[in-house]
Amino acid sequence: MNTLWIKHPRAVFTSNRLDASGGLVIADGRILEVLAAGQQPSGPVSQVFDASTHVVLPGLVNTHHHFYQTLTRACPPALNKRLFPWLQTLYPIWAGLTPAQHALATELAMVELLLSGCTTVADHHYLFPAGLENAIDIQAETSLKLGMRATLTRGSMSLSVDDGGLPPRSVVQTEQVILDDSKRLIERWHQRDDQALLEVALAPCSPFSVTPDIMRASAELAAQYDVGLHTHLAETEDENAFCLKMFGQRPLDYLDSVGWLNNRTWLAHGIHFNDEEVQRLGNAGTGICHCPSSNMVLASGICRVNELRAAGSPVGLGVDGSASNDHSNLMQEVRQALLIQRLRYQADEFTHLDALHLATKGSAQVLRRDDIGELAPGKRADIAFFKLDEPRFSGAHDPLAALVLCGASQADAVMINGDWKVRDKQWLGGDIRQLMANHQQAASQLFSGH
Ligand SMILES: [Zn+2]
Repeated sequence: MNTLWIKHPRAVFTSNRLDASGGLVIADGRILEVLAAGQQPSGPVSQVFDASTHVVLPGLVNTHHHFYQTLTRACPPALNKRLFPWLQTLYPIWAGLTPAQHALATELAMVELLLSGCTTVADHHYLFPAGLENAIDIQAETSLKLGMRATLTRGSMSLSVDDGGLPPRSVVQTEQVILDDSKRLIERWHQRDDQALLEVALAPCSPFSVTPDIMRASAELAAQYDVGLHTHLAETEDENAFCLKMFGQRPLDYLDSVGWLNNRTWLAHGIHFNDEEVQRLGNAGTGICHCPSSNMVLASGICRVNELRAAGSPVGLGVDGSASNDHSNLMQEVRQALLIQRLRYQADEFTHLDALHLATKGSAQVLRRDDIGELAPGKRADIAFFKLDEPRFSGAHDPLAALVLCGASQADAVMINGDWKVRDKQWLGGDIRQLMANHQQAASQLFSGH
């Protein structure tokens, strides 16, 4: 058996109680052994990777994004706007998205995440204008080509401005089209083995862009096929007001009424919940994706991470779409999580290790995956390696704290299933400069075409 000993890391965060100071033994895409200080591999190893200058983490897991939005970063008409007018400004631009632009946006976003130490991505794609009906197929092909672990969520919008919703007519689909395509995508792409690289979940966009019927039908379909359910919820106070006016219910009551309050569901943002709602979410095991930068950019509020976790909800981390972050750097997002949570909790109530936990095991739990998100025997060998070799780290003492507090942003090496995807801070799968040039051109075309 081909074995690799990741030997004597400078520091390591396992996201569990295991001591991995002696390193990790990798074989056949999995972690075979976790070695405590002074411990040696139990058998002969075929290769050794000297990790003495590396801080080692489980590959980071991103639980919410909209890859296509990388084409509308720092977009002038949308700058400095609140959520609803921000969306209404961007919808007409996004409506012109083409398959080629979408493929480039997906690849750029995934590689950007990879370079930040991320090995598993979840994307929420809900935009299917005419000509882009195969948006999820395009993403599936891209993620398989890159060899990254991905949960692609088939989003939907069915409530246009004509029916009291927010999106324009040109980007909504009928319920039958949405449900037929959802079934097709699950059957075509969703992998069920325990080392799945590609999963599909169902993801109506938000209460203000779909009908209650599509929410109910999606929940039934997800249960029938045993796949995840995802949406945006309780992001802003405006959304609370919308739900009360449109449905006569607060967002969580609405969610409950359409059959979504269960452990199959994970919600992006999850900010404006009261105490009773937090308890109900926890009792149901519903997951929350905390999106710190996006919540700060759109002045949405602060997720109640500690109360949600205490109630029983898995809580993970997400960069959110690049029109509201505007980067896709998950390691930077770990720092943002620490900083924003320190505005809610005392310093000893939310630590740098809590922030790292959100982006690793917390996120894996949100995606209902027990094979990633931590370093332990039997888990997939999805691992991120950082070096403290930039001026911002000079003089640092605790390496794990330095990653978060000094602000690491670029992984030195990344492996997925034991395969190197990044070495010496370079993406091994293609030409990043060419990808950026093509992507920038696609962004200009999309913006100038609307
Ligand atoms: Zn989002």
